[in-house]
Amino acid sequence: MDHELSDLAPAYVRSIAPYQPGKPTSELAREMGMNEHDIVKLASNENPRGIGPRTRAAIDSALKEIARYPDGNGFELKNALSKRYQVPLESIVLGNGSNDVLELVALAFLGPQRAAVYSEHAFAVYPLATQARGARGIVTPAKNYGHDLQAMAAAITDDTHVVFIANPNNPTGTFLPYADIEAFLKRVPERVIVVLDEAYNEYMPPELRIDTARWLKRFRNLVISRTFSKAYGLAGLRVGYALAHPQVADMMNRVRQPFNVNNIALIAATAALDDMEFVARSYAENRTGMQRMEAGFKALGLEWIPSYANFITVRVGPAAEVFKRLLKRGVIVRPVTGYGLPEHLRVSIGTPEENERFLEALALSLKQ
Ligand SMILES: *Cc1c(COP(=O)(O)O)cnc(C)c1O
Repeated sequence: MDHELSDLAPAYVRSIAPYQPGKPTSELAREMGMNEHDIVKLASNENPRGIGPRTRAAIDSALKEIARYPDGNGFELKNALSKRYQVPLESIVLGNGSNDVLELVALAFLGPQRAAVYSEHAFAVYPLATQARGARGIVTPAKNYGHDLQAMAAAITDDTHVVFIANPNNPTGTFLPYADIEAFLKRVPERVIVVLDEAYNEYMPPELRIDTARWLKRFRNLVISRTFSKAYGLAGLRVGYALAHPQVADMMNRVRQPFNVNNIALIAATAALDDMEFVARSYAENRTGMQRMEAGFKALGLEWIPSYANFITVRVGPAAEVFKRLLKRGVIVRPVTGYGLPEHLRVSIGTPEENERFLEALALSLKQ
């Protein structure tokens, strides 16, 4: 008898829409017969600076550790994070990327007969993590492309156990003032875990940024999620972390794989955290690049969503078509139709040269 093998999975797994990653450079090179070095990839919000020399040296020295299992408690990195954010070691959960941290929240606090609230146009991992647990997703309509916190608070049901907030948000780059988030935290019942995903925190202008870690003392249900993938340039190594109440962190650590963060990632992240100058330069170059992109869009008569991150989402009309034309010119950006934005493309801020290449290719791709 022939079954569909996919029917062996529970319905909630079968209904998951696969995550669409940015197209790898090597794949486009193969498809188009291009040289990889001629391709500009602005599709995954990676740091165009790469990594700093100190981090590179730490990685070199870590190679001799490969045959060993990593420290499953990640003591060195946790110690550095604990000092930086003035939180106890017991408040820290390390993840294989902050994606892993988001999954750990879902594993620990969601399940069938439970629900999570997140916004329209919010990060794709929230529905993925929710659905994979057989939990129900409650999606609130966006407001000016960002989160509507009033609507999110109102959407919380008796079976809601988690709320996901991205600030700044991906793929829209929108930012919620901290006072609004604080008011939201005051309003939400303590039985609901509120995940504040701050993957782009380091790209926030210092005059707008506050230390959200100090909220942990007041809001025991808060989970702050951060990553080394963006401003620290370690996307390929996969390392992120959560800051939370020790009891919340304990639950997340129980469902974590014992060695979820590899030893090179641990050593590299510890070194990268110390390299404040690298992060400061990444921030400054991102700002300059952002201004260049905005000027370029303005010159082309395009509308964009003002961004507080290291990417910008621009309205180009027939986005699928423009995306394909850009590919033919060796430029990879990110279509965001899957996020409910069929007329927009998301573009990471690259090096000055990459930004110019993209803007030139975009001008040509809009014409035909
Ligand atoms: C990139 C991103 C992350 C995390 O990525 P990791 O590489 O898994 O750390 C998390 N949240 C948002 C909103 C992101 O854009």
